[in-house]
Amino acid sequence: MLELVEVGRTYDDGHPVHALRHVSLRLEPGEYVTITGPSGAGKSTLLNVLGLLDVPSSGSYLINGMETGRLSEGMRGAVRGQLFGFVFQAFHLLAGRTAVENVEIGMLYGPHGRRRRRELALAMIEQVGLGHRAHADPRTLSGGEKQRVAIARAVAPRPQVLFCDEPTGNLDNENSAALLALLRELNGSGLTIVMVTHDPHVAQEGGRRLCVSDGTVSEQ
Ligand code: ADP
Repeated sequence: MLELVEVGRTYDDGHPVHALRHVSLRLEPGEYVTITGPSGAGKSTLLNVLGLLDVPSSGSYLINGMETGRLSEGMRGAVRGQLFGFVFQAFHLLAGRTAVENVEIGMLYGPHGRRRRRELALAMIEQVGLGHRAHADPRTLSGGEKQRVAIARAVAPRPQVLFCDEPTGNLDNENSAALLALLRELNGSGLTIVMVTHDPHVAQEGGRRLCVSDGTVSEQ
């Protein structure tokens, strides 16, 4: 479904940094892939390229057989919005909006009207175990609860792939375990998951484990 062919990504502000070098990789529907490696190895760059948040400097990236290199910025955004969901370490929830409103925001550009969005968002909030906090301001939620809202927001539009960058980075052990159980459940219902983590224990969650080292990717 997602295929990188000889992808390179070089940052060049004065002196070039080869964040990815000759990366070839195929991800299939339903996989749970974890990506580990030392700081600065290229993990986030890989995730950003796969998630269409960044563009390769060389090589090609195909999504369901479609070459993405020639897509306009707007088209990339549209494909990203349709196929992908994202969860980051820092939650990125809007304060001053309730949990359920934050989840609705994820569906703003989808096909559903306001009422349907609310129904779906409430169902999603239930599914992540936060039904009782649906109308709370995120500022009053714990870290684990915030990340559950972030996951609900990311998966409410029914993406094919959920990209997670250090989703447990701000959570204690207990909340990490609960979050990983939730991700496992979502993967069990068919969602493809690609997760960057520096934590070897968290990386064990992946049915497929990749290691990034100095811009190159190997299977573990
Ligand atoms: P990781 O996620 O494994 O810590 P990154 O993908 O963030 O690694 O970074 C890979 C390399 O690319 C690092 O050397 C980093 O400093 C560099 N890098 C990342 N983003 C940029 C950027 N926007 N501009 C310049 N260099 C960058």
